[in-house]
Amino acid sequence: MPRTRLAPSPTGALHLGNARTFLVNWALARQLGWEIILRVEDLDGPRIKAGASEQAIELLEWLGLDWDEGPYYQLSDQSAYQAALQQLASAGVIYPCRCTRKQLEAASLSAPHGHEHDLRYPGNCRPADGESIDHGLLGSEGVAWRLRVPDESIAFDDRFAGRQEFNVQQTVGDFLVATKAGLTSYQLAVVVDDARQGIDQVVRGDDLLASTPRQMLLYERLQLGTPPSYYHLPLVIGEDGRRLAKRHGDSRLLHYREQGVHRDRVLGLLGEWCGLGPRREMSIEEFLARFDLAKLPEEPIVFEAHDDQWLMAT
Ligand code: GLU
Repeated sequence: MPRTRLAPSPTGALHLGNARTFLVNWALARQLGWEIILRVEDLDGPRIKAGASEQAIELLEWLGLDWDEGPYYQLSDQSAYQAALQQLASAGVIYPCRCTRKQLEAASLSAPHGHEHDLRYPGNCRPADGESIDHGLLGSEGVAWRLRVPDESIAFDDRFAGRQEFNVQQTVGDFLVATKAGLTSYQLAVVVDDARQGIDQVVRGDDLLASTPRQMLLYERLQLGTPPSYYHLPLVIGEDGRRLAKRHGDSRLLHYREQGVHRDRVLGLLGEWCGLGPRREMSIEEFLARFDLAKLPEEPIVFEAHDDQWLMAT
């Protein structure tokens, strides 16, 4: 049976934008008979807020979503990430990097939403071909590890966004698989988890489109077989064209719930944003019955002040 995952990062509150992506993922899975697992992506150390994992789970339940397995927490079992790093080291495809953040101005631990973390690594520490690498440094403080990325394009057919082609070396270069603080990067963790949890269907925001070829490269280098099928969905943005965030007002599900907004009203707005016709209160059962991926708008959705007013006019 195909398997997908809902993978909230407990770094910020669940807002209408992520809620729409989770809802689409869930409805598609339930319509097509995929199994759903819940995976909390809590590796992102400093950005994780206490209690945020429980809150994210509770809000997904409030919206009416359910899952067949989990929650799994990335922090609770990191041995598989270490094993993957060892495997990459033995294959000679990663190398240590001591560049400072200041030198590079590139963070890497979090899922790179948009282009905020996507500065190209210029290759300062890349060893020459054939040069030996001290793998004893694996796991030492102060040493990060990067994957040698070939200078070639990687293509894939996204089930929603269509044909994609990226040259990872030209865009981000040799990317991080482990950070100086000894933490596994988002790119490596997501691949190890998707593989060990048998995930073959990935539905997520299209801010992660450019991460996909990096993950496909890791599938190959770790000999994990065929990567999943991908569905990258357009995001909800603010009136300024930027990804939905605090600056656009409080669009957190928690906020609406606390204001007494009924979840059917939230589902009604999300339903309109999924192409299901003009907004009106809608139960989760009706949403599921009417959801149709073919109707999902191909353009980003703009969250406007009147959307908030409609929700609050309960
Ligand atoms: N936890 C990630 C995020 O919220 C999603 C990662 C993924 O779907 O691959 O951005």
